[in-house]
Amino acid sequence: MIVFDLPLATPFRGLTRRQGMLIEGPAGWAEWSPFPEYDDAEAARWLMAALDVAHHGHPVPVRERVPVNAIVPALPPDQAAARAVASGCDTVKIKVAAPGQGLDQDLARVAAVREALPEAAIRVDANGGWDLSQALTAAHALARFDLEYLEQPCASVEELAQLRRRLGGQVWIAADESIRRASDPFRVRDLAAADVVVLKQQPLGGARACLELAATLGLPVVVSSAVESVIGIHAGVRLAAALPELSLACGLETGRLLAADVTRPVSIDDGHITVGPDPVPDEVPVASPEVTHWWQERLRRVAEHAGVALP
Ligand SMILES: [Mg+2]
Repeated sequence: MIVFDLPLATPFRGLTRRQGMLIEGPAGWAEWSPFPEYDDAEAARWLMAALDVAHHGHPVPVRERVPVNAIVPALPPDQAAARAVASGCDTVKIKVAAPGQGLDQDLARVAAVREALPEAAIRVDANGGWDLSQALTAAHALARFDLEYLEQPCASVEELAQLRRRLGGQVWIAADESIRRASDPFRVRDLAAADVVVLKQQPLGGARACLELAATLGLPVVVSSAVESVIGIHAGVRLAAALPELSLACGLETGRLLAADVTRPVSIDDGHITVGPDPVPDEVPVASPEVTHWWQERLRRVAEHAGVALP
């Protein structure tokens, strides 16, 4: 096991570094990197995902290439547009409703990307940052940019369902946190709260759990990363490659948010990642002894909580 500590090139989700563990099992290398503030119960689902990869490897692919979206953090408009263009992707996801920012800034950012890429599919992600009335206002104001979907505009499933009804299909709603951090991901389906679901391999307990969830939910799926190292992103790519249906670009272009990685980053050509051999960590920026100790302790606690043996 190795504890990594990677600097971010662009601050994201309030983070400037991304830390986690790489665990080697009989089937290969896996990443375990629950965000530091997550409690042991939540981190345990991430551990099940890592152990699934370490013990059983990845599911069998049904496609060789996975389309991906560019990720645009809550940057000023010119930087946002430059990042979207440089990605070479024809789908772009733009962060909105960032803490301390207003709708004017969101609209300016989306406008700049739309102007730079008139043909691109543009989706926005609010990470649950709006209440229902703010989300309605934002949805109407953003309509002129012809959005593919609005991801997690509000925090609760009930709000998503109400918003979706009020918008009457004018714009699709995608559920992310309402799936991966919910005690019952099926409420999204039962309340008809979304048109698209975002699935993440680590938070949902692994690729096989995600494939089952996708089959049961019966909604279009977008596989996204949790700002992972190339090992975690590869697990996301392998999940996306194994889905029976994949009609939307996946959120797996987050490698460029990192200023260093644990081996050569995944290459993105023409907005696609080609499913390649399993990456092996060979140039890991290793964490300090204090950070390493913190992760080792966390792993011991979480494994005990989950009642699992480590490789
Ligand atoms: Mg999201």
